[in-house]
Amino acid sequence: MKLHTQILLGMLAGAALGLAFGPNAALLPHDVYSLSAASQADLRAAPDDGAARLSLGGAPLELRILEERQGELRDALGAPHRVTTWARVALTLTPQHLLGDEGARLRAALDPQGAAALRPGARVEAWLRVPYTSVEGGGLTPQRLPVSGLGVTLLALLAPLGELFMRLLKMVITPLVFSSLLVGVASLGDVRTLGRLGSRTLGLYLATTAVAVALGLVCAHALSPGDFVDPAARARLLAEYQGLAAARATSAAAAPSMLDSLLQIIPTNPFEALARGDMLQVIFFATCLGVALTLTPKGDDGRPKGATLLRALDELQEAMIVMINAIMRLAPLGVAALVASVLGQSGLSVLQALVVYTLTVLLGLALHTALVYGGLVRLLAHRPLAPFARHVRPALLLAFSTSSSSATLPVTLECAEQALKVRKEVASFVLPLGSTVNMDGTALYQGVAAVFIAQVFGLELTLGDQLSIILTATLASVGAAGVPGAGLVTLALVLSATGIPQVGLALILGVDRLLDMFRTAVNVAGDLAVSVVMERLEGAPTRDPD
Ligand code: ASP
Repeated sequence: MKLHTQILLGMLAGAALGLAFGPNAALLPHDVYSLSAASQADLRAAPDDGAARLSLGGAPLELRILEERQGELRDALGAPHRVTTWARVALTLTPQHLLGDEGARLRAALDPQGAAALRPGARVEAWLRVPYTSVEGGGLTPQRLPVSGLGVTLLALLAPLGELFMRLLKMVITPLVFSSLLVGVASLGDVRTLGRLGSRTLGLYLATTAVAVALGLVCAHALSPGDFVDPAARARLLAEYQGLAAARATSAAAAPSMLDSLLQIIPTNPFEALARGDMLQVIFFATCLGVALTLTPKGDDGRPKGATLLRALDELQEAMIVMINAIMRLAPLGVAALVASVLGQSGLSVLQALVVYTLTVLLGLALHTALVYGGLVRLLAHRPLAPFARHVRPALLLAFSTSSSSATLPVTLECAEQALKVRKEVASFVLPLGSTVNMDGTALYQGVAAVFIAQVFGLELTLGDQLSIILTATLASVGAAGVPGAGLVTLALVLSATGIPQVGLALILGVDRLLDMFRTAVNVAGDLAVSVVMERLEGAPTRDPD
């Protein structure tokens, strides 16, 4: 069976597993109640005997914790994605608890237990969900009951496998990019060729990204996804995700200014840049060193003095490729674990309120891929589309499952060089740069998300606002790292530049991880499309790999 078929099967198996067993599995029957932040803190602080005192709708609520379960799943980077505790509690209701808005939600949620449960004074048993990430405000919100202990355990056992795979992939990135970019730059011959390749590549990256944001805006206006969110769903989403949204906005606020980011591309200590794996700094240093090695004077043997080092790096690069091939044997299992973890965490229920928004992003991504990349490959690179699509498949599947253009880079490079026959000196320059600088999928999603949030809040966006979205989303996607969730943080910047409330991030957080998979695949497709264009523009005869 071909590798991409195996990866695809792994993805499907992971998806089925996550959806069936994940903490937010849609298949499970009972309701659970999500607590307000204050109540969560009270519950966590409950003494060992399990008696806790919360406040519900302003009235004290005594409850006893009968049983607790914890689910901790890690995201693709190994960081805890969400730690959730579920507690089965016994509580006794007073009339005040059933009053007002919160009481109405509680009544609706308790309804399955029958009218007797709703009688004031009745002892009720219920599951409460206590997310570890603090959720400000809130109140009681019906949620799905977590899976049996078995499901959580199964996913917890799988999660390290996904992490193992990601770590192995990341292990090869820095040595691979450093060696292949350096050897590539050195074999370009002269600085002028490098300058031309660099400016054309950057120009094309920025142009496609700006088109992507504009397309996102058009799709969002055409489908108007904000009109499909009813006020109840809006309140629920805001309550559930407010805490996380604030955290994202804070990390965006800590981002350096544009000028600082540009200056930071130059590493003060290249060894530190290599050790940290800072991609733009590594690219800068490797480019300088590659040029310098070609300019070294000739030694006594008549060869340039840098020739030995260049050769050694060439050999290092070959060894990295052997390692990648070995790591990719693990891909189907690793991918299954990653996809199970994402879908298990988000579940599909959150999709209901956001279905039109999700479809709008997906439609935009599909249009961008077909029109812009199809156009680039067909008209500028003069290549037939079907073989191109076939050759890029492994990289796109991996991008989809890892949600990281950086982690996918080793395979992107391999697809370009081996399957698409892009020369090493072109691929090794264009693709590492693209993995951090070119994020069309991310930019497009930011365009849709900005309009969507504005629509839900009833804000009119002027033409100037939309131009500001195009500009900031294009620049923000340059600044975003190729890691899961990076686009969400830079979206906070886009929103604040346009005056759209950042709290709106809470509306889209539930489906963000899912959309991250699709937009990352488009990001990587964009890098590969530009690589074949550069291959042609840089004067190589058109080579149809088939
Ligand atoms: N995960 C994306 C990437 O690596 C970035 C993002 O949109 O969050 O390309």
